[in-house]
Amino acid sequence: MCGARFIVDSMCGKLARWLRILGCDTLYVDPTKDDSDILEIVKERILVTSDRALARRAANSGIRVLLVPEDLGEALSIVSGAAGVRLRIDPRDTRCPFCNSPLVVVSREGLPDGVPREVIRSHTRFLLCPGCGKVFWFGTHYWNMLRFLAGVKKIRRPGPLTGGPVMRGDGNDL
Ligand SMILES: [Zn+2]
Repeated sequence: MCGARFIVDSMCGKLARWLRILGCDTLYVDPTKDDSDILEIVKERILVTSDRALARRAANSGIRVLLVPEDLGEALSIVSGAAGVRLRIDPRDTRCPFCNSPLVVVSREGLPDGVPREVIRSHTRFLLCPGCGKVFWFGTHYWNMLRFLAGVKKIRRPGPLTGGPVMRGDGNDL
């Protein structure tokens, strides 16, 4: 179970999808919103952003923020180390990368229409999103994700967040 809840800046869309896959409740900020709107809705969440100016403003407002580099692997490593996110995909505790709803494990009988027949034939377990109706299965894409996570684990990670707003990121001060 991912104990951390995030709100991810629109610059880091791939990172937001990954945090959901890892089971974290993650909001993805509408790119049309300006920065003050983001700070308004951040509430109890940790703000994750690559935007130095936004990170500085958030920290000044007492919001916990993680400043991450644009590289996806490094960003994921930083968030994992700072907020205690486990770098593993648990099918019973994962969220829809597109809408953030917790996914449910279903068998062939629980599938909605539209799943390709060859996929149904070659798999027995699927993940269904009750929010948007999307279906996921453990195919090539899944194995590629596990390979990516194995690479992220090899990146040296910073320690956990300790009280108050803490900046993490590419080593530069804000
Ligand atoms: Zn969904």
